[in-house]
Amino acid sequence: MNNFSETTKQYLKSDSSLFIDGKRCTATGEEITPVINACNGKHIYSLRDASNSDVDAAVAAARSAFNSGWKTMAPEQRAGLMLEFARLIDEHSEALSELESLECATPISISVSTIRYWCAAFIRYYAGWVDKIQGDTIPGAPFLYPDNQFLAYTKYEPVGVVAAITPWNAPVAMLILKLGPALASGCSLVIKPAEITPLTAIYVAELAIKAGIPAGVVNIVQGKGETVGQYLSGHTGIDKISFTGSTAVGKRIVIAATGNLKKVSLELGGKSPFVIFPDANLEDAVPAAAMACFFLSGQNCMAATRLYVHESIHGEVIKVLTNIAEAMESGDALNPKTQLGPLISEKQRQQVHAKVEKAVEAGGVLLTGGKIPEGPGFYYPPTLIDNTEVSMDIVQQEVFGPVLAITTFGDDIEALITDINSTIYGLSGSVWTKDINKALKMVDAIDSGQVGINSHAALIPGVPFGGNKQSGWGREFGYEGLLPYLKIKAVTIKY
Ligand code: NAP
Ligand code: MG
Repeated sequence: MNNFSETTKQYLKSDSSLFIDGKRCTATGEEITPVINACNGKHIYSLRDASNSDVDAAVAAARSAFNSGWKTMAPEQRAGLMLEFARLIDEHSEALSELESLECATPISISVSTIRYWCAAFIRYYAGWVDKIQGDTIPGAPFLYPDNQFLAYTKYEPVGVVAAITPWNAPVAMLILKLGPALASGCSLVIKPAEITPLTAIYVAELAIKAGIPAGVVNIVQGKGETVGQYLSGHTGIDKISFTGSTAVGKRIVIAATGNLKKVSLELGGKSPFVIFPDANLEDAVPAAAMACFFLSGQNCMAATRLYVHESIHGEVIKVLTNIAEAMESGDALNPKTQLGPLISEKQRQQVHAKVEKAVEAGGVLLTGGKIPEGPGFYYPPTLIDNTEVSMDIVQQEVFGPVLAITTFGDDIEALITDINSTIYGLSGSVWTKDINKALKMVDAIDSGQVGINSHAALIPGVPFGGNKQSGWGREFGYEGLLPYLKIKAVTIKY
C-alpha cells in the first residue's frame, strides 16, 4: 500500500460502487462483494452491489444524456472530447495501472504499457472516425420513377443506450474497447465491469467527465453478473448489449436480450492454435509461442493454448519451450520485473489444476509446471503438456490459465486443418513458416476471426478482432467495430 502513488491511495479510500449522471453515488443493493489481491489473498476493498433501482437510474441517465445533445453533437466537438479523454488516460496511467495491477494482478509493466500506449491510442483511433461516419447516395428507382426525379441516400445514427458488460482479465482495456466505438458513434453507456475488478471503472468514467464528455454519457453500475448483469441485459431501456466474457454467459445474454430484441455483440472465449512448420524460424517462433500462451498467465481470450508442432522439430521445440517456461519470472504484480502474475482467484486456480490433472490422466505428458506452489497468492506455474490429441478436453476446452497443450503433426496437412478446426471456438490463431504458399493455404483453411503469419494476435486498433463459431458475434476494432454501434437510415426523396 505504501508504494502506491498518492492518487491511488486517495482513490482506494473513496466509494467506487456507482457512477451515474456524472457523479459517484452509493449503491443501495443488499450484497457486498469483497475485492481480493490475488498476489497474497488479502482483502483490499469492499463493494456494495447495485440494486435494480440503481440500474434503472443509470439507464435513465444514459437515455437523458443521449437525447439531450450527445447524439447530435457536432463531429469535431465529439472528436475533440475523445482526444482530451485519450490525453487524460495517458496522464493518469500511473494510478490506473496501479489500480489494475491491484484488482486483477496484471504485472505492472504490462498494465502501464497497455494503458499508456494501447488504451490511449485506441480512443484516439476512434476519435479519428467521428467525422468519417458517412452514408451513400443510391441512384435510380426505375420501376417507381422512370423519370429519375428521385434520390435515395443513407445516413448512420447511433444505436442508442448501450449496456457494456466486461470481464476481469484486463479491466481497463475491456472498458476502452467499448468506450472507443460507442463514444465515436454518439451512443451513451451503462457499463457493468466484473464484480471482482471494480476499481478502475469509476476512475475511467471520471476521466471522461474531466475531458468534457457530458454527464450521463458514461455510467457505471457494479455487482454480480447473475443479478446486476442479468437485470441490465433484460432492461427494456437498453438498445444494445456489448458483451465480453465466456461463451456460456454470452448465451444467457442473448436470451435476456430477447424481451425488446436488443442488438447484441459478443466477444467470447477461444482456444487458439499456434502452428509451427519445420521451415519456421524457430528463434522467433518458440519464444512467441510461450508469450502467446503465457501472457497474462493465460488469462486472455486470444491465448494460443494449442501448439501444433511438426514431428521433425518436436524435440528441439519442446526443449527450448521448457527452458523458457521455467525461466519466466512470476511474482507480485507490482514488482516491475514480474512477467507472470497469479491467477485471479483460488477457484480459478483449482479449475485450471483440475484440467491439467485430467489431461495427464488422459495420456498427456507433463513437461513442466502442473503443480500448485506453496505460499500465499493464487500462483500457477507455466505448464506444458505434450502428447495431446484432438479428443482430449485440454485441446477442446478453454483453460484460462498458463497451460499449453502440445500436439505433433506429420505431413498430412488436411488432417492438421481438421484438428485445428475441431473446437467450438474460432477467435485467433497463427502459422509460423517461411513458405508463403503454405501460410496462405492455412490462412484460408483456419476458421477464425484472425490468423497471423509469423505473429500471433495483432491487437491493433484498426484491425478487426472477434470470433467465428462460438467465439462470438460481430467484431471489435477498426471500422467493423464501429458498425454495431450504428443504425442505418435510408432516406428516399421524390422531387
Ligand atoms: P464471465 O464469467 O462470462 O463474465 C463476464 C462478465 O459477464 C462479467 O462482468 C460478469 O459479471 C458478467 N456476467 C456473469 N453472468 C452474467 C449474467 N447471467 N448476465 C449478465 N452478465 C453476467 O467471464 P469472465 O470469467 O469474467 O472472463 C473470462 C472469459 O471471458 C473467458 O471465456 C474469455 O475467453 C472471455 N474473454 C473474451 C474476450 C474476447 O475479446 N473475445 C476478451 C476477454 C475475455 P461477474 O464477473 O460480476 O459475475
Ligand atoms: Mg465470472
